[in-house]
Amino acid sequence: MIEIRGLRKSFGKQEILKGIDLKVEKGEVVVILGPSGSGKTTLLRCLNFLEQPDEGELAIGNTKVNCRHVKHKEIMQIRRNTAMVFQLYNLFKNKTVLENVMEGLVVARKVPRATAEELSRQMLDKVGLTEKWNVYPSQLSGGQQQRVGIARALALNPEVILFDEPTSALDPELVGEVLSVMKKVAQEGLTMIVVTHEIAFARDIADRVIFIDGGVIVEQGPPAEILVHPREERTKQFLRRIL
Ligand code: ATP
Repeated sequence: MIEIRGLRKSFGKQEILKGIDLKVEKGEVVVILGPSGSGKTTLLRCLNFLEQPDEGELAIGNTKVNCRHVKHKEIMQIRRNTAMVFQLYNLFKNKTVLENVMEGLVVARKVPRATAEELSRQMLDKVGLTEKWNVYPSQLSGGQQQRVGIARALALNPEVILFDEPTSALDPELVGEVLSVMKKVAQEGLTMIVVTHEIAFARDIADRVIFIDGGVIVEQGPPAEILVHPREERTKQFLRRIL
């Protein structure tokens, strides 16, 4: 379970997150929608301390922190509970697919190499890349690279996977294969927080859609409600623009 209370983050004088409160249940798939610059990526990055929040409380799994007084050890615990899938995959170019998936397990988690390899191969099976274990990222399509990114996140067995616009760098014909892997992961009961503009994914897979604008949650609810009958004018305007 994840609980965020009063999360605030500024860059310089500009306040980007203005007090975010959010609870995510175990196994829930939450999609975050919102206009460019509304703070979606910043929110995700605050959840694993890629950005240090200025204020607020954060609980992920068994770890609870007060962001003002957070200790290095607590940040490490929070990071152990999360994994991130990035827009631009962020794979190591000089490592093979298998080595990319193993890296976090061996280096950060100190899992023995043989165990890490076995686990990583299972994750590559799951994302449909069994045969590609020994190639380098440059030999893969964008969609395949992102599936490696998902396998790498899955291998860490986190409490939650944070997806930051996982398909927005892909050519349109490659989006489907990544979304279908994400759908499979969702159906296996993983907790997922997904920033995306893929409305079809939100409609079909999300348990809840959250609309963020100007650093605040404007409204949230089941996809059928938020995407079809939004209450707030800002949500209506946003959906009119992207649908
Ligand atoms: P998009 O959909 O375009 O990715 P977003 O909703 O994810 O947008 P963020 O990336 O969270 O928005 O950015 C929110 C605001 O914070 C933007 O104005 C951005 O320029 C600013 N910002 C983000 N990261 C930094 C940073 N490291 N330093 C300064 N400003 C930043």
